[in-house]
Amino acid sequence: MATIRRIKGTQDILPGESEQWVALETLIRETMRVYNFKELRTPVFEKTELFARGIGQLTDIVSKEMYTFFDRGNKQLTLKPEMTAPIMRAYLENKLYAKSPVNKFFYIAPLFRQENPQAGRLRQFHQFGAETLGTAYPEADAEMIDLALNIYRRAGLENLNLRINSVGDVTCRLPYKKLLQDYIRPNLHLYCQDCQRRFDDNPLRILDCKKETCSALNQKAPRLVDHLCEECHTHYHRLKQHLDALQISYDEDPYLVRGLDYYTRTVFEITSEALGAQNAICGGGRYDLLAEELGGQPTPAVGFASGIERLLLIARHQNLHLAPAQRLDVFIITMGETARQKSLSWLKTLRQAGFLSETDFLGRSVKAQMREANRQQARFVLLAGEEELERKTFSLKIMDRSQQISVPFANLIETLESLANE
Ligand SMILES: [Zn+2]
Ligand SMILES: [Zn+2]
Repeated sequence: MATIRRIKGTQDILPGESEQWVALETLIRETMRVYNFKELRTPVFEKTELFARGIGQLTDIVSKEMYTFFDRGNKQLTLKPEMTAPIMRAYLENKLYAKSPVNKFFYIAPLFRQENPQAGRLRQFHQFGAETLGTAYPEADAEMIDLALNIYRRAGLENLNLRINSVGDVTCRLPYKKLLQDYIRPNLHLYCQDCQRRFDDNPLRILDCKKETCSALNQKAPRLVDHLCEECHTHYHRLKQHLDALQISYDEDPYLVRGLDYYTRTVFEITSEALGAQNAICGGGRYDLLAEELGGQPTPAVGFASGIERLLLIARHQNLHLAPAQRLDVFIITMGETARQKSLSWLKTLRQAGFLSETDFLGRSVKAQMREANRQQARFVLLAGEEELERKTFSLKIMDRSQQISVPFANLIETLESLANE
């Protein structure tokens, strides 16, 4: 019979790698804690409608990439492809606005998109991110950018670039949309299929097209930052003042727009040069219109999301060891049946004292057990056979010093603790 294999586009995170994940997650949690962001966990699936309304029917995510299925009750469900809409849903549904005027959340979550695994894209991937709900003040935008950069800095990432832009709000975006369409219209037939499709409903995304012909045609396009209304202009100006005060350097990129429809005013992206070309590791921005889109009361909001797989790839590339390899503290080598019978209770004593300990589960020879202790880089090896049982004394090998001493059973923990602290 053929063995069962994992689904294409998914990954097993094996020991050796999982430690790096935990280390990064711990670093994220610790940074979120000092910034006073609280974890919010949402279900892995939601009604499809949440994403259709929250992300926008016309986006690639909703139209092509979502993991959508009908359950046995014929309800249409979707494995969450992003976290902003679920967080907003949870915030509205649980009336969290009634408990506090400003809510700061973070998440670390698996997400799902039915991407093409041939292109090396994952169908289950992982992101962490943060969302501040309930304030329109640019201080929240600046804090968000500072938070993201701080996490990367603590992880040891270098050569990061921050780009920012303002995409305005409903007041300034509508007239600008017309201006942009007027600019594109004469050459529309020269743009790619995707851009032509976006022309009527979502012309701003045409500015985001990475295809060479399109970006060349966009060279002289009118820029929204030059057409911001008074309030949006002030908001953007304040954000830049805050970034300056925080000594965060940035590039203004008038053509930076985010893939999702609900963004307003601030958008930002952090890229890394580590993997050769510029790679986005973080995208974020303000989305003051999402709450209403989901049927809630108006709630200004700002957030960012960051891919964990790519971050770990960069960390590996930069030879950053987020979590050093674990060494075994104690390996118990047993000789004979009686000693083997006792080994589990010795292990229990060692483990209760906090020593990472192991023994042989295969009834191997002393020589083979010693090889195993070396393979796991044990710092101490306890030898227990008939003789040791009779004298109620272990033979203890201190591996780094190639030294062997005798330790009475009763003094084991005490002795190990003082040796470990040397
Ligand atoms: Zn295009
Ligand atoms: Zn505006």
